[in-house]
Parts: sequence; C-alpha cells; structure tokens
Amino acid sequence: MDKVLIANRGEIALRILRACKELGIKTVAVHSTADRNLKHVLLADESICIGNASATESYLNIPRIIAAAEVTNSIAIHPGYGFLAENADFADAVEKSGFIFIGPTADTINLMGDKVSAINAMKKAGVPCVPGSDGPLTDDTERNKTIAKRIGYPIIVKAAGGGGGRGMRVVRSEAELIKAIETTKAEAGAAFGNDVVYMEKFLENPRHVEFQVLADGQGNAIHLGERDCSMQRRHQKVVEEAPAPGISEQMRNKIGDRCRKACLEIGYRGAGTFEFLYENGEFYFIEMNTRIQVEHPVSEMITGVDLVKEQLRIAAGQPLSIDQSQIQIRGHAIECRINAEDPNTFIPSPGKIEMFHSPGGLGVRWDSHIYAGYSVPPYYDSMIGKLITYGESRDEAIARMRHALDELVIDGIKTNVPLQQRIMADENFYAGGTNIHYLEKKLGLN
Ligand code: ADP
Repeated sequence: MDKVLIANRGEIALRILRACKELGIKTVAVHSTADRNLKHVLLADESICIGNASATESYLNIPRIIAAAEVTNSIAIHPGYGFLAENADFADAVEKSGFIFIGPTADTINLMGDKVSAINAMKKAGVPCVPGSDGPLTDDTERNKTIAKRIGYPIIVKAAGGGGGRGMRVVRSEAELIKAIETTKAEAGAAFGNDVVYMEKFLENPRHVEFQVLADGQGNAIHLGERDCSMQRRHQKVVEEAPAPGISEQMRNKIGDRCRKACLEIGYRGAGTFEFLYENGEFYFIEMNTRIQVEHPVSEMITGVDLVKEQLRIAAGQPLSIDQSQIQIRGHAIECRINAEDPNTFIPSPGKIEMFHSPGGLGVRWDSHIYAGYSVPPYYDSMIGKLITYGESRDEAIARMRHALDELVIDGIKTNVPLQQRIMADENFYAGGTNIHYLEKKLGLN
C-alpha cells in the first residue's frame, strides 16, 4: 500500500498525512477550491482540486474522489471522520473501483449505521444495551403502549437511521406517546429516508463513556480502554478525557472485553468506537462509530498506540501489531476542542488568523492545521484544532492543559479558548465525573 488518498480536510487530513509519512507511504490530498492553502495540501506528495467550496461538490462527491484516486494511481482511500467516513455507498464504490477503503466493509457500516440492527448485533454479542423495544415499533398503538409501560417512563423514541443527535424525542407519559411516535416517524422519513423508529428507556443523567477498539478482520481484536466525553453542548463533544474518572480496572476489562468479542462476532475490521451511556455504575450501549474519531488522541496518549498507523497497517492486510496483554493504560490525557467561534454565542467566526503561537512543553500535543496567515473558511465545521495534554495523573494533565491554553495565541478570529479555560477552572470538572447535561447547565442554556 504505497499511496494513500486522504478524502478529508483540516486537522484529521494532516493527522493521516503524518501517519503515512512515518510509514513511508506517499500521500494524495484532495481539496475544494476554498482549501488550496490547507497545511496537508501543501505537505502532500500530490494534490488535486476536486470541486467548489460546498462539501456536496467536493468532500461529499463520491465520483470526483474516485476519479482523483484513479488519476493519481492511489492504492487506498482514508475517509477520516465526518463527510463520507460512515457512508456505506462510498466504501462500496471505493472497493468496487479497485481501491482499498481504510475502514470496515460496507456491510459492517450498514449493520452499525442502522441503530436497530446495531443494537440487535450487540445484544447477541453480550454488550449491555439500554432496555428498549428490541426492534422497530409498529402501527399497533396498544403494543406500543405496552412496550413503553414495560420499559417504564420516561422513554425516548429514536430513529433507526438517525445521527448527529437528531431524530429523537423524550416521552414522559402515556398521553404523549402515540403523537411522539408519529412525529418522530414522519421526521425520520423526511430527514433520513428511513422512518423506522424504536424505543429506549430514557436515562436522565448519564455520562458518555466510549470504548476504543482495533480489529484486523483476521480474528484479532483489542480494546484500548475508555474515554469520557460527557462535556457536551448540543450533543457536540467539547472536552474528552481518558481514562474516564471513576471507572475501575475491573469494569474497564469487563466492558472492553465485551466490545472486543463483539468485534470478532461481527467480523469488524479497522478502528472503531463503542459508545455507551453510563449511569449508576452501569453501561448501556447506544451506538458504534465505524471510523477514527476526533477524540482518538487521548487514547493514544494513555496507551502509546498510534491508532491511525494501525488503521493503515490493517488496511494493508497486516494482522494487529499488538495483542491485548500489551495494552497498558498509563497516566491521564485530556483533549480540548478548539473552535473558531464566539465563546459566548457559539456563532462561527471564520476569517484570517493574524497571529498564531502554539503551546508546548512536556505532555502537550497540538493537532491542528492552522498557521499565521491562514484563513479559516466559512464552509465547514468550525473546529480548527485539538489541544491534548498528558500527565502521570489527572491533576497533572489538567494543570498542563491550563497553562497550555494560556500559551495558545490565535489572533484575528474568535475562538472558544475562553470557554475551555472556564471548564478547566471549574471545580466540578476538576472533581471528575460530570454528566452530559453539566456543560449546558453551567452555561445557563437550560
Ligand atoms: P446520534 O447518532 O444522533 O449521535 P445517539 O444514539 O448516539 O445518536 O444519541 C445521541 C445522544 O442522545 C446521546 O449522546 C445522549 O445524549 C442522548 N441519548 C440517546 N439515547 C438516550 C437514552 N436512551 N437516554 C438518554 N439520553 C439518550
């Protein structure tokens, strides 16, 4: 696998390029007309403009990406996260055109992309799930009422094809139930082209804890412990850390082992994440992400495993280079997402970065494509970098994050650095274990 096309932009494209360089793999950057000056485009061996700024004309345009792979004689395509990373049609088109898709098979993406089939597969594999309807809801009103009663209110009606925090409705009493099912069904049909809905127990104050896995599709799978991503605003993660505060080694091994076995059961290939809600000491599976995630660096820092390099090795047909006994969790890592946005109103703040200084020092990692003079385009996600700190202890990681945020200078545009400084100074964050509603409550958004 000597040439990889990177079908993404921004920090993750640079992250993939760095891993390829380390492994001696040539890189092809594809970019939109708005992204000619992206750092990885300037560093790649070859680059191709694939279309206009709008993502539908570039990063989401399957034929153009495949054509770029063809003209550059690429061997494999790395989708990164977002855009086409969990699009089974893309994975299929890549493989049918004779390239390697760096990720699982299209069938696996489909299986996990439908939440009802994902939950069924996980249940079968012994992964703990949220008590629910065990399948799609029908038009049978009485049946639906009986299911809700059995689960116990409050319940949540969810779209099987939902994503990005959309297609869900909380129901607190039987009086609201039937209307809520109808509305969610109609919305899901319109938004996702799939009107299948199901029901789950609604957990009031959970934390978001997820397990990282790697599997080679050749009978080997490992887990790399968990991450806590409970600090969220509108279902968007803001801060992530690993390990999750208060999770015992015994619990980690138990849930991690179930995830590992589930990978073997479904024939999983690549890097993946099992997302759970965690409440009162129990884990409840909600969905699997079949790609590399934004927050992967915190797992890398505490295990020493380069997840993107492992993805590349797996795609090249090599077995996993490590087994479970070699995974030792050491220290603590925190990631702050740095967004180009107003720290109070959250309105995106694209524009030219006039001055830039990155933080540094022992245990400080800065994954970002920005530089002085770079203009953040208005067309894409507002995340412009990830600041990651590592410490022997959680306290040390937080102390490093505080000074690293103070050192970070991004002038010319607004960023959420002041928000991150507030979070790092917050006593409840410092204590650890805050739930998924904490940040919105703290911000007074609820
Ligand atoms: P998506 O694919 O849209 O991200 P998820 O199933 O991962 O959907 O759910 C997104 C978020 O919705 C979760 O992180 C959580 O905040 C909330 N949520 C989903 N299911 C439940 C549930 N059963 N109880 C409480 N909150 C839930």
